[in-house]
Amino acid sequence: MDLDLLHETLASEPAFRARQVWRWTAHGAAGYDEMTDLPAALRARLASEVPFSSLRLVRDAHASDGTVKALFHTVDERPVEAVLMRYRDGRRSVCVSSQSGCPLTCTFCATGSMRFGRNLTASEILDQVLHFRRTEPVDHLVFMGMGEPLMNLDAVLGAAERLPDLGITHRCTGVSTVGWVPGIRRLTETEMPLRLALSLHAPEDGLRSRIMAINDRYPIAEVLEACEAFYARRRRRVFVEYVMLAGVNDAYAQAVQLATLLDPRIYKVNLIPYNPTGAYDGSSRGAIAAFQAAIEKHGLRATVRLTRGRDIDAACGQLAAKDDATPPAPRPRAAAGRAAPSAPRGSGPSARDRAARRASAGRRA
Ligand code: SAH
Repeated sequence: MDLDLLHETLASEPAFRARQVWRWTAHGAAGYDEMTDLPAALRARLASEVPFSSLRLVRDAHASDGTVKALFHTVDERPVEAVLMRYRDGRRSVCVSSQSGCPLTCTFCATGSMRFGRNLTASEILDQVLHFRRTEPVDHLVFMGMGEPLMNLDAVLGAAERLPDLGITHRCTGVSTVGWVPGIRRLTETEMPLRLALSLHAPEDGLRSRIMAINDRYPIAEVLEACEAFYARRRRRVFVEYVMLAGVNDAYAQAVQLATLLDPRIYKVNLIPYNPTGAYDGSSRGAIAAFQAAIEKHGLRATVRLTRGRDIDAACGQLAAKDDATPPAPRPRAAAGRAAPSAPRGSGPSARDRAARRASAGRRA
């Protein structure tokens, strides 16, 4: 629901009317008809003047593991994707998009190969969640769909402010970023205790720049410094996401390099099995397990993300990319497929090693 339009439309009504409408909506009402404490004439006026959702569902897909993926269009026909993940322990987590398409060009990401559309509004972000909220309660949210949330931070924070009304607390809301440093700094200053996740994907600047061009603008040392300031202020661990690409970033030496780079008191690593989009081969299960073991041996915690919705193209941008009328030429396969230089083997890294490595990682940019 376009909340600005709602407020304009209700401008001549008492202020509590907009709150009433929002309360019903946030609790999963399917339409204005259900808002029984609103006068019937007002409900009829709202139905004709304020579309109940700012998004139109174009298609949805239900995976055998309970994951649901929805493709929407905005009123100006921009594609937007969101995913609902259902877990056995009862958690219901929604993954939302912050932009239609993405201005960044990470080589492994389906959204990165689409045209960038535009930033989504706070209402368009909330409407993705409300779509699922209408079928069941939801309690977790991640900004891990299309787009770079920290490049649209006003709308992301605007949406985040209202999430508790839908049943999602700020502590259960995560923002995932490529390492957009000014955004990390702003996030550090907000009142809301949101979680921060960093998409790192490489332990040194040379490789990271080849697979994520944004690294030329914000190299690893600068990004980690911003994450560490976030931790110092918020006392909340930063999750490092690391998508496992065979022969690119999954060597033993790279695991050691990663463990040397990241302070285990501040970071926890989440290894992500690659959802194939054509550009790379994903690391095998065995390679992922070996990488995890190498990291943990060096004292850094690492988990392997459960793959969800494989059978429905649930990776970031996959549904919309299929619909995109004019995708750019495909990228060369495994363009970044060179392994990083080996790091010395041996005992776990000290804080001093870590600082030294980071400085040299920066110089290799
Ligand atoms: N721009 C933000 C949020 C969107 S992407 C960010 O980069 O963090 C959310 C996560 O999905 C990122 O960690 C991204 O690297 C990862 N991702 C993108 N494409 C993927 C794929 N094909 N398989 C697995 N993970 C992927």
